[in-house]
Amino acid sequence: MNPLYDLHTHSTASDGTLTPGDLVERAHRAGVSVLALTDHDSTEGISEAEGAAQRLGIQLVPGVEISVTWAPYIIHVVGLGVDTGCKQLQRGLLQLREQREERAIEMGRRLEKEGIKGAYAGAKAFSNGHLISRTHFARFLVDRGYVETMSKVFKKYIVSGKPGYVPGSWASLEQVVSWIRDAGGQSVIAHPARYPFTRTKLRRLLDEFVELGGDAIEVVSGNYTRDNCLTMARHAMDFELMGSVGSDFHGPEHSRIEVGRMLGIPDGVAPIWHNWNRRDQAISL
Ligand code: AMP
Ligand code: MN
Ligand code: MN
Ligand code: MN
Repeated sequence: MNPLYDLHTHSTASDGTLTPGDLVERAHRAGVSVLALTDHDSTEGISEAEGAAQRLGIQLVPGVEISVTWAPYIIHVVGLGVDTGCKQLQRGLLQLREQREERAIEMGRRLEKEGIKGAYAGAKAFSNGHLISRTHFARFLVDRGYVETMSKVFKKYIVSGKPGYVPGSWASLEQVVSWIRDAGGQSVIAHPARYPFTRTKLRRLLDEFVELGGDAIEVVSGNYTRDNCLTMARHAMDFELMGSVGSDFHGPEHSRIEVGRMLGIPDGVAPIWHNWNRRDQAISL
């Protein structure tokens, strides 16, 4: 049987609901043989995940999903196979987490004006001492009964144009590709089909990404349709980018997305892992 790859997942180190250890266990049960933990702007969960992966005999790829401002848009770039000890990378991620803290305080202020008290402290409590994301605000608002569901919280309060939304100011595409390269990793445009881009805009992004030395795009993501997948495969081939696959799993309560459950990678796309073994061999020689 072919190995099953899931190269985009989250744990409690960012906005997932499973600890890194529990995530690895669930991935193992789902038949995943190569798993990347890619928390937002943090590699804090990697060592726990590595321990669990070693015990269970699955391969853990150290990863991260970095927030990027590609004005006026915000996009995500996944780094795979990063050395978590890399100073440039960690310095960059720390700055982003500081940004998150400032943004969260401002979000709390804005939500207060909407009659929602204690949102900053509430979101902070949901983040369990890790970084704060909009997801933690959404959990707090649902928990307190302000809104019925997470997706309604986003729609009503915390997406662009809504009263609690603060865009934040993230890293540039150039910085992120260089941090990932410094850390010995490969950079991947996360879920490109999910951005509100025209085809022209997406191709401009991919042009820039290739120019900067980017490696791959996610041709398969947890919530893609078959059509999304085929369109992204076409772009990957046109730009000679490799293809990555990841569920973007955040926890069992998000019923539509499950770890290890994704469409197959279309023929003709070079999978990002196609030279991983060769690399390992090079290292072991
Ligand atoms: P942040 O990085 O703090 O801006 O938060 C972004 C995260 O919010 C994403 O990684 C998703 O996990 C989550 N998210 C974004 N949009 C939605 C939505 N409409 N419904 C539920 N979760 C969402
Ligand atoms: Mn998330
Ligand atoms: Mn993302
Ligand atoms: Mn993600």
